[in-house]
Amino acid sequence: MNTEEINLLTKRALSGDKKSLLEILNFLEKFDQPLTRFASYSILYQFAFNSLYDIGKYCEECGGKCCKSGDPIQVFNFDYEEIKKMGGDVGRLRKNGKIHLLSRPCPFQNGWACSIHKFKPYSCLSYPFATEDEQMIVIKEYKDGIPDFKVPEFCTSGKVVKDRLNNVEKELREKLGRIPSAKEILEFLMKEKT
Ligand code: SF4
Ligand code: SF4
Repeated sequence: MNTEEINLLTKRALSGDKKSLLEILNFLEKFDQPLTRFASYSILYQFAFNSLYDIGKYCEECGGKCCKSGDPIQVFNFDYEEIKKMGGDVGRLRKNGKIHLLSRPCPFQNGWACSIHKFKPYSCLSYPFATEDEQMIVIKEYKDGIPDFKVPEFCTSGKVVKDRLNNVEKELREKLGRIPSAKEILEFLMKEKT
């Protein structure tokens, strides 16, 4: 897989597609390196954040701070095409050379919510666990096990999801006598949901 294919597959996984999630976790598992282990857990935590837990009330209380300030967000070509196809106003995006960017405060934010939620860019779907900028220090120090993900103080949703998943991991670790893989945590979460 080339980088664009990996990014596209990850975006599908982060959008809630379990088949793509399993595909990307299987792909990463083959490498068994600290960075790929980190990526597996961050994609899993982010998938749970986006698709398994009802975090809307926390985001509403927060007022959508993550979309209000910060550096511009990169919009990949496949994001751009999807926004355009779905009728989003791509004229609101900024251009820097060949790269499309989303400024913050984000022009697609409506109150606390995202007006293009169903087709928002990869970078937005990655917040906070799979955003490299947020996790830079954690990535640098990471060796093994569940990363101690850095969640901004104001992001209550992130803190709630991190606590829940860390508890699931602890329970599984006690049961298995070792650190569970991202796939094992996913299996547990899916059973819990049914
Ligand atoms: S900062 Fe966190 S709690 Fe606030 S809107 Fe963004 S994801 Fe939700
Ligand atoms: S596109 Fe949506 S999720 Fe992304 S920054 Fe804008 S309002 Fe936030």
